[in-house]
Amino acid sequence: MDTPAPRPDAVARTWVHDAIALLEQEAARSADTHLLRLDFPGFPGITFYLKDEASHPTGSLKHRLARSLFLYALCNGRLRPGQTVVDASSGSTAISEAWFARLLGLPFVAVMPACTAPQKIQAVQALGGCCDLVEDPLQVHARAAEHAANGACHLDQFGLAERATDWRGNNNIAESILGQLRREPQPVPAWIVCGAGTGGTSATIGRYLRYRRLETRLCVAEPAGSGYVHGWRSRDRGALASRPTLIEGIGRPKVEPGFLFDVVDAVVEVEDAASIAAALLLEDLLGTRYGGSSGTNFVACLQLAADMRARGETGSVVTLLCDRGSRYRQTIFDPGWRAAHGLEIEPWRQALEQAAASGVWAAAG
Ligand SMILES: *Cc1c(COP(=O)(O)O)cnc(C)c1O
Repeated sequence: MDTPAPRPDAVARTWVHDAIALLEQEAARSADTHLLRLDFPGFPGITFYLKDEASHPTGSLKHRLARSLFLYALCNGRLRPGQTVVDASSGSTAISEAWFARLLGLPFVAVMPACTAPQKIQAVQALGGCCDLVEDPLQVHARAAEHAANGACHLDQFGLAERATDWRGNNNIAESILGQLRREPQPVPAWIVCGAGTGGTSATIGRYLRYRRLETRLCVAEPAGSGYVHGWRSRDRGALASRPTLIEGIGRPKVEPGFLFDVVDAVVEVEDAASIAAALLLEDLLGTRYGGSSGTNFVACLQLAADMRARGETGSVVTLLCDRGSRYRQTIFDPGWRAAHGLEIEPWRQALEQAAASGVWAAAG
């Protein structure tokens, strides 16, 4: 019997193995992110934990997603040596994807709205990525699809975030959090709070909690009036946002395919000014700046804790610090920018400080 000639894709297969080995090496070099603990006088018996996703090498929780998307493309046989990689992203995802593309020696194109902050464009370029700027933000997906039709590999964060991560374990964010809580007084949290951009993080956490048969509930903290707020309430995947938001990374205008309604137990709406006030408060509490969506999460934590306290419950509340505040020096951390956007921070700041001191939440304004 003749031995079949080596198939032309044998070289590609060797390259895929090498690429996966590079991703595994990167994961082995990276430490897990810290779980920071906070206690407040107003909340005796309730402990807050914050998972510091800003400490990834590319500065946000999108580091996990980008690693997963590359692995998913490689293991599905969709990524070949020398192939250009493309994705539509206006922010953190493009930066993390550019970083991994460089690690694998692949050209990377980020399709972005032309209005994207110059700092982010520069960050992608500094990592060797190329930015294809599109005038109409609604056209970014179509443009990414065009690149894919011309031979690029579309990482497709919005289409694949929910399935690219191994929700049963593999040190996904949920497994990591619960492992880090193991020696704490209340190792099974009452709530885990996260935001939703692609919906990938909430899908992973929600599934993992069920898989581990835990009573922990999952809350999604969202800018008021976002697509997910309306969609989750009405269970309508066609729901649209009733208001835009200034908080980056979350508050999508529509319901993305990766957002799973059924694993989310509560959605808390947070005003942009409250999110920003909370990001400023986090800086005071932790000595480090985090982005606006970390503030959104923190506001929801205080609200949930106030409800727990009112019911006489104790327990732990966990949330994420999603990205570094240094990306927002010219936006949410700039008083001039806040004034130009009509944001009144002070009343929210007082409401948050009062909640931390008294355990009672009273919305500002
Ligand atoms: C992407 C992102 C989120 C939301 O995470 P998803 O897993 O995409 O839902 C929150 N905050 C920031 C800063 C992000 O970039």
